[in-house]
Amino acid sequence: MTSTVDELFPFDSFRGKQHLVIEACINALYHDGYDNVVIDAPVGTGKSPINITNLKYASDGFYTTPSKSLRQQLMGDEVLSDEFEGLKAREDYTCGITGENCKECSINQSSEQSCAEKDRSVRIGVQK
Ligand code: SF4
Repeated sequence: MTSTVDELFPFDSFRGKQHLVIEACINALYHDGYDNVVIDAPVGTGKSPINITNLKYASDGFYTTPSKSLRQQLMGDEVLSDEFEGLKAREDYTCGITGENCKECSINQSSEQSCAEKDRSVRIGVQK
C-alpha cells in the first residue's frame, strides 16, 4: 500500500503524520469494514491533501466544505486544484438566462415560475 499512497499523494513529500493517516483511512474503509472515517486534526495538518489522496484511492468522490475561504484556497492551490473540479455555491454563479445568481433570482423565489419555463421562453425568444 505504501507505494500506492506515495503515488496518489499530490505533493512530493508528506507533512507530519499525513502518510499514516491516509494508510489508516484506507485500511479502515477497504480492509476493516468501516463505512465512515472522521479525521479530526488541527489547522495546518494538511487534511486537504489527505482527503484528496483518499478520494483518488477510491477513484472518485466528493470533498465538501462549508468554508468559502477553504474552497477558494483549494481552487487557487497550484497543485491541489489540478486534482478536482470545483463547484461553488449558487450565489457564486451568474445565470446565462437572467444574468442574476440563483439566490437573488425572482424565478427561484416564485412558486409559479420555474427555470424550465423561463429557459424555454428565452429560447423561443431567441429563435424569433
Ligand atoms: S433560478 Fe434558474 S433562471 Fe434563476 S438564476 Fe437560477 S438557473 Fe437562472
